[in-house]
Amino acid sequence: MAVVKSNAYGFGAPQIARTALYAGADQLAVARFSEARVLREAGITAPVLVFGMVTPPEVDEAIAQGVTLTLHSFETAELFAQRAHTAGKQVRVHLKVDTGFGRLGVLPEEVIDLARACHALGGITVEGIYSHLAMADEAPDHLVTRQQIERFSGVLDSLQAAGLRPRWAHLGNSAAAFGLPAARFDMVRVGTALLGMKPFYFQPFPAELQRVISWKAQVASCRQLPAGWGVSYGHEYVTAGSEWIATLPVGYGDGFRRLPGNQVLIDGQRAPVVGRVCNDMCMVWLPHAVPAGTEVVLIGRQGSEEITTDELIDRWHTSQADIVSSINPRVPRVYSSMERSG
Ligand SMILES: *Cc1c(COP(=O)(O)O)cnc(C)c1O
Repeated sequence: MAVVKSNAYGFGAPQIARTALYAGADQLAVARFSEARVLREAGITAPVLVFGMVTPPEVDEAIAQGVTLTLHSFETAELFAQRAHTAGKQVRVHLKVDTGFGRLGVLPEEVIDLARACHALGGITVEGIYSHLAMADEAPDHLVTRQQIERFSGVLDSLQAAGLRPRWAHLGNSAAAFGLPAARFDMVRVGTALLGMKPFYFQPFPAELQRVISWKAQVASCRQLPAGWGVSYGHEYVTAGSEWIATLPVGYGDGFRRLPGNQVLIDGQRAPVVGRVCNDMCMVWLPHAVPAGTEVVLIGRQGSEEITTDELIDRWHTSQADIVSSINPRVPRVYSSMERSG
């Protein structure tokens, strides 16, 4: 199951979804119903699961469009059944069980009753059941993960015994897909790893995975500033001597965080960002002049140097999904193999 929520983490849901389906994914998942609508409007007919909550009109649309919804409570079961009866059709669902995330779903001991309720209410086709891991990205064999796997397996056993085991049972995200065979069950839900980002924090980059994304800009201007010259808001940086300072058309309005310690690649070398990052621009220190238009790499490889999203996790104190999802839509996305993605 290819997870293309949040516009495929900013990379374009229809393009990434088509590429994933071409490469062998069977199903897609998104967070909001509006994101499923975007996929259907793009002509994508593959199964799409919506992880999040839906409004009654969205349930009607999901029934009409054949979009699969998450059934996470007894209330949603009643709502879905009622809308399905009104439409005279079935609503396709995956049950959500909370095995230890504290976010959405019924508790493990309630699943049997929920499955029975779906059966009794009618109008609901239970195609799957799933849960989400809280610690898979942190450590491969965390006690909490083992406990979640055990609880999920227990739920599946009792559903099996009651003759209510749905076709698709799924628990693992990217981290589990790569590092935790016991959490794979019938299907894995892969998001960040689809984009070649490292699935876990403490383990090395998996050999099967390839980094595919880069974020590039061009030098807008490069000037020699005199000694004692303040750079950007607040003059947090002041030139010590005569210095080459390049201005880049990249700011926090593009998703480049206004935090200290930023670096970019220019001429295959790391160049430090100096002064505060502005909304639309930032400045970097260079050892020598470079022409306007020189390629700048914010994420990715240039020559033998590389700035990875793993590095930015530490600098920006956030997740890779957050880093790339926050790259503003005004930054054009360019796909390098359009025969697969377009
Ligand atoms: C976002 C999400 C995923 C994908 O997570 P990755 O770590 O990006 O692979 C899987 N399942 C659920 C429920 C999610 O919300």
